[in-house]
Amino acid sequence: MTAVPAITLNNAVRIPQLGFGTFQIPPEETRETTLAALEAGYRHIDTAQMYGNEKGVGQAVRDSGLDRAEVFVTSKLNNGAHAHDDALRAFDGTLEELGLDYLDLFLIHWPLPGKGDFVETWKALEEIYRSGRAKAIGVSNFQPHHLRRLLEATTVVPAVNQIEVHPYLTQDDVRAFGAEHGIATEAWSPIAQGKVLDDPAINRIAERVGKSPAQVTLRWHLRRGDIVFPKSVTRARIEENLDLFDFDLTEGDLGEISALNRDERTGPDPDRFNG
Ligand code: NDP
Repeated sequence: MTAVPAITLNNAVRIPQLGFGTFQIPPEETRETTLAALEAGYRHIDTAQMYGNEKGVGQAVRDSGLDRAEVFVTSKLNNGAHAHDDALRAFDGTLEELGLDYLDLFLIHWPLPGKGDFVETWKALEEIYRSGRAKAIGVSNFQPHHLRRLLEATTVVPAVNQIEVHPYLTQDDVRAFGAEHGIATEAWSPIAQGKVLDDPAINRIAERVGKSPAQVTLRWHLRRGDIVFPKSVTRARIEENLDLFDFDLTEGDLGEISALNRDERTGPDPDRFNG
């Protein structure tokens, strides 16, 4: 079995640094695909209420034969539930869909600057955390100014901030803010949904080390210390994306890939997006 390193979050919870993403996996395929990921060796699954596929993720975890404690499961609060009581109800719905009695990590999916109030929403997540039904809580798509507001107004420091990060969007400012405050960075769309795979610099490095452009990009994330969960419905790619531990990149390679940054998002801008 591949030895995936673990990262210790700010409340001592350990999270496998490499997991499996499930965005855009159709609900009817989610059980089978997630089961393939668990069979390949992934022990960390990222889903969200918005993906509509929590049920399949839960079925896969239960059908895998693994102990619940061996699999790290994350879900995220839907954008329509940004109010204290709505958030509590939505969390109950998530546990029900998954068929699990706790989550490892529960996130506010988007800050939604023009809608709701993420501070009040966070207070609901704090209650969930204190109840033990989420072992850790965090946020997603938060900019430093959103995080600053949370840190000033609430008690529990988010364990993670899940943001878009890849070689064309390195997000050094948001990552540095997180590192300064004990908030781990999770990098979503780590291969930019495939857009970085034709990059000439990444391909040159891939040829030299004898790995694929996706593997080189994922290794770059791990060397930077971020948590990643590439998504694939293709069994060979599911295995390829886990096979990252028999090679390494030089400092020169890491610098060359980081220098590809062009602040290019594949997803929405969190300062404008209102769900
Ligand atoms: P990824 O960067 O993981 O890319 C997924 C795409 O790349 C799919 O089209 C997949 O194809 C293809 N692919 C995967 N592996 C390979 C490979 N080895 N070689 C070639 N192509 C490959 O994009 P995602 O947007 O899915 O991001 C990953 C996860 O991050 C999501 O699944 C979700 O869990 C999370 N996320 C969170 C967001 C947030 O707002 N918090 C937003 C977006 C994502 P195929 O499936 O056909 O094999």
